[in-house]
Amino acid sequence: MTVLDLAILPKLLDACDAKAVENVRADRGGPFAASIHVHNMLTGDLQTIVEPVGNAVIETGLASAHAEDRAVQPENTAKLRAAVAAIGLENAHIYVISSAESCPACHAKLEILARQLVHEKLILPQHFTVVFGASYEDSKAVAGFDDDKYHHDFQVKPGTGLIRQSFAKFLDLPETLRTRINDATGPAAWIMTKDRVLVGVGDAPEVNVIHVASRVQQRVRIESPWNLRRATLYTFTHEIGPMAYAECQWANISEWVSVEHESAQIFATREAPDIGNSTLFKIIGTRPYTNPDSAMIIHHLIPFANLGQHEWAAKADKKQYNGA
Ligand SMILES: [Zn+2]
Repeated sequence: MTVLDLAILPKLLDACDAKAVENVRADRGGPFAASIHVHNMLTGDLQTIVEPVGNAVIETGLASAHAEDRAVQPENTAKLRAAVAAIGLENAHIYVISSAESCPACHAKLEILARQLVHEKLILPQHFTVVFGASYEDSKAVAGFDDDKYHHDFQVKPGTGLIRQSFAKFLDLPETLRTRINDATGPAAWIMTKDRVLVGVGDAPEVNVIHVASRVQQRVRIESPWNLRRATLYTFTHEIGPMAYAECQWANISEWVSVEHESAQIFATREAPDIGNSTLFKIIGTRPYTNPDSAMIIHHLIPFANLGQHEWAAKADKKQYNGA
């Protein structure tokens, strides 16, 4: 059994910082980057699974296309699963390196991934470490991104904060929406625009429908397509999960309407494989990362040069987007 040579961590973090600088200069998104590595505790080998990848909000038009989100895209998590499976349950330890402290959306995605990997018997609990450089306070002071208010919103009961929750009887909904709800054959969520109903499906239908709506706005060249301008989201999910909630925060959703329908029981979203949404919500809301039920270890690594955020601060023509 070997332990990781911790001297490597500042180097990995600096590589993310360099990517963040490049990201700002290329106008892809904000001054953030993340990478993923797996330590083989038997051999001492540290394998890079995802090279530093930058925030892509401006490029993609998606509010939550943050660095960590890009790092855990399905093609990357497939590589990660293969790598840890090859090492074996006892000996694999995952390191996610992020140039900045994760917002609740990214924090939720990482916590869910860690829990999935534990559930799939690919890693042991707490064999998933997140190392970050800039704190929320740094990101606000240096680059003007204020994640703290979004995190603070996680301290209240879900549905009573920035995004209100209401419950709607099926028959009280507009007919166009009722038709689409009746069409659902699995988990689904909806956003109504002036002229149509957009549908999100898959494991995270609420996140998916927000992306569908953002892409529609990008296609018709609406300014700041990631901003859904106080839209209302409809879903079968009554127990709000933190990943979907944080996505609503970033996309500027005003209201989460839980539809009362016979399909709501079977098609509601559960974000983590092993715990309910409200328990997961509390884990994500705990700060500073002291929740004993988290599957992750989170480590703030200082000193950190934070060159990416300084690059952003000095950029004359930067696009303002959520959080900035
Ligand atoms: Zn984020």
